[in-house]
Amino acid sequence: MKTRYLITICLLMILSIYCLPQVVNANNQEQHFEPLKAYPEQPPLGRLPQSVRPTMYWLDLTIDPDKGSFNGIVRINLDIDVETQHIWLHGKDIKAQSIQLLLSDGSTVNGQYVQVDNTGVVKLTFEQAIFPGSAQLQINYETHFNNNLEGLYRINEAGINYVFTHFQPISARLAFPGFDEPAFKVPFNYTIKTRVQNKVFGNSRVTSETAVGDGWKEVRFAQTQPLPTYLVAFAIGDFDVVEWQDIPTTDIRHKTIPLRGIATKGKGDQLNYALENTKGVLINLEQYFEIPFPYEKLDIVAVPEMAFTAMENAGLITYREQLLLLDNNAPLQQKQAYLSTHAHEIAHQWFGNLVTLEWWDDLWLNEAFATWLSYVSNSQTYPEYQFDQMLLSRSLGIMTADSLMNARTIRHDINNNDEVQSAFTGITYIKGGGLLSMLEAFIGKENFRSGIKNYLKKHAFKNANADDFITALGEQSSIKSLTQIKQSFSSFLNQPGIPLLNLKFSCKDTLKPSISITQSRYLPLGSKGSTTQTWDVPACIKYSVNGHQKTLCDIIKQEQQVLVLPEEHCPSFIMPNSNGSGYYRFSLSKDGWQSLLKHSAQLSAEDMMSITNNLEGAINAGKLKFNELIEITPTIIDNNSAAISLQPIYLLSFVYNNIAENKQQKAKLAKLYRSLYGQRLKELGLVNKDTDSINAIQLRTQLISFLSNEGEDKAIRKFLLDMAIAYTGYMGDNKVHPEKADSNVIKTAIKVAVEDLGKPYAQHLRNLLEKAKEGSLRNQILSGLASIKDPEYAAEVRDLILTPSIRDNEIGLLIFDQLSSSETRAPMWKWFKENFEHIKSRTPPSYHADLVIVGQSFCSAPEKEEFISFFRPLVKGNAAAEHKFQRQVEVIELCISQVEFHQKYVDKYLKLQ
Ligand SMILES: [Zn+2]
Repeated sequence: MKTRYLITICLLMILSIYCLPQVVNANNQEQHFEPLKAYPEQPPLGRLPQSVRPTMYWLDLTIDPDKGSFNGIVRINLDIDVETQHIWLHGKDIKAQSIQLLLSDGSTVNGQYVQVDNTGVVKLTFEQAIFPGSAQLQINYETHFNNNLEGLYRINEAGINYVFTHFQPISARLAFPGFDEPAFKVPFNYTIKTRVQNKVFGNSRVTSETAVGDGWKEVRFAQTQPLPTYLVAFAIGDFDVVEWQDIPTTDIRHKTIPLRGIATKGKGDQLNYALENTKGVLINLEQYFEIPFPYEKLDIVAVPEMAFTAMENAGLITYREQLLLLDNNAPLQQKQAYLSTHAHEIAHQWFGNLVTLEWWDDLWLNEAFATWLSYVSNSQTYPEYQFDQMLLSRSLGIMTADSLMNARTIRHDINNNDEVQSAFTGITYIKGGGLLSMLEAFIGKENFRSGIKNYLKKHAFKNANADDFITALGEQSSIKSLTQIKQSFSSFLNQPGIPLLNLKFSCKDTLKPSISITQSRYLPLGSKGSTTQTWDVPACIKYSVNGHQKTLCDIIKQEQQVLVLPEEHCPSFIMPNSNGSGYYRFSLSKDGWQSLLKHSAQLSAEDMMSITNNLEGAINAGKLKFNELIEITPTIIDNNSAAISLQPIYLLSFVYNNIAENKQQKAKLAKLYRSLYGQRLKELGLVNKDTDSINAIQLRTQLISFLSNEGEDKAIRKFLLDMAIAYTGYMGDNKVHPEKADSNVIKTAIKVAVEDLGKPYAQHLRNLLEKAKEGSLRNQILSGLASIKDPEYAAEVRDLILTPSIRDNEIGLLIFDQLSSSETRAPMWKWFKENFEHIKSRTPPSYHADLVIVGQSFCSAPEKEEFISFFRPLVKGNAAAEHKFQRQVEVIELCISQVEFHQKYVDKYLKLQ
């Protein structure tokens, strides 16, 4: 027990009423207290000491979006356990004007404010020692709006200034001094003073709005539920506001939830689709948890410029505007992105907001769950979208990143502020989600759901860590023991990489059939790692005996293990990863593969997705050659499911773009690809039909892109060219005509038009960009501009990045698109190096280490050397940045190994054509 004092009295202050505890020694419990550590003298660069804790905040901010800076007063109630003359907290680039500590006896102590570290660690030093008890800290301060889309930042659109916040993970400290760490989860009270024409939104409802003279008003918000600083949010400006119907009560929730959509001026009418689909997403998640939505209202905000794609602020969720501004005619991909992001952010209101991670090492507790739940929940609300297959496809897709020796673990130590951003990886989100799918399949859906409900109820409005979750899960599981679950879970949580199970099947007349399993780590060609590694793999093997399908589940722990089937007869096939629900790869003997593929009609779509992923793994490991892949491909392509049929495209594109050495080889490959996929597209037709299923739209969209590009199909290119001309009013009225295009393929069409018409069409797009305000349209135009091959004009496009006509969150698109094309890669790389400081200045500092990702298109030894010589000196001394750099070097090295290995087989194959 750590609490030493009881809160007993309240003091009435001039502006507000709040509680201040009186010091009362609970002496009868003294003997149980843990000895208190002395308060640290050295700056805590990671977690703050727990012996000085906030219990409540009051924020009074004065914000005029037309000014460059703002000021505020922050008051924080503190519990202090130790005697100290200084307090550590956070604040970044803040000018503190006065610091006072109001003690419980009514006296005041003045302090000094010094930022001691560039990650925003602040030391407050007081004029006298502070004794254990309670106190209230007050800091009056001023600071600038941030220019890098974090903290409290300002953007201008169509001449109007708006202010938004983005605090995750450690940017609240840019907006106000405080204890910017998730474990300090307490209620917030805030008041915002601004110009009368502005609307103001926050986490909770507005309780009063009062004119205060001179064209200003004061907006006061209700006290929030306990929140960590990173979930506090506000938005200020002359917005369009769409008041929607309240989300109705359910058997789980007895209060309605007011729902609103918020967008910058003139865009409100595009929020209807997003608002209309919110009720279903929210109610379905609520039914899953059987816990009411934790907040009293929900606002969804379309933000024109945002560093992350969306942010789950409690009750005030922000999104990049292209995710929210859409209608029924929007491209399928945009709808899918909206639905999965929306469900992800709403799922966070429970996972992350209601129960918050204790520290950033457990970010997966937020992100893996929100990712997993968004697909699980949407697959019920929107069965036609096949979100369950999307979830599997994503966790299969992350295996490429997880096969690196520099792959991160799902859960990893974060020792200082510099490392916090490194927790936000695909491994945390997607491999974490895959791990949850595996666990759910192994212990059963209802057991798993009971565990989740148990966890959320136990820790509601508090913090929790990985152990808390596994304990809550174990308490509800009637199938497997807690120890077994913990061991298996932690072997995946705390180890990088993918288990590879090699299965050898034996069936003799005298014995029951058995499977001998060897476990190792999957490694791709060129990897310098060791294959010796084991996990506690919860494996489920599907097999068929006399036409009946059976499943055998067990935990594979050893390097070598034998499973005996309970049957007397030999199975006709074994599928080593039933429904692909296990996060592992497998290999079989040639006979094993043949009998499995021969029975593909008896397998589920998920089985087939897992099989094709294993084939991709075999190609990447050099176990399967190009000609062998082409032999198998028709069986995969013929599959009805788009997710399966399209799977080989990634490998075929890699061969076309990275291995083919000249135009002749590319032309031969293009002919081959048309022969493989042409018929499927012919059956679908190039034009959308009202009767098309989502599967058909997905297939057509991808095939048009693949066949127009890697398939060099002239007829498809002409079809796209005409569409792009009509859509953009080229040589006509120079206006955009959405009704003249298929929204699913228009982006590809614009790219084709730029490639075929060159500079004049690019110039036309450039003019359209000047007037384009919506994120989706700008995205189409910019990706078209990035595909110009004319060297002079490509240089002009690059220089656009140096101008304000490109938004900060659009810079990456132009850079990556030009780097991905062999014609523009070298000049873009040169330009990137020359303008690195400018690019950095328009990127949030916490993302600077991520800029090494520009190396993702490099696949040759000279490119690797150039990459190393530019970035190595820049990352030196920063552990998180060095790790990202090493990881990128490994990606380039593996790509080089792939090309070297497969080139000879591709050459040999093409010579015979
Ligand atoms: Zn998230």
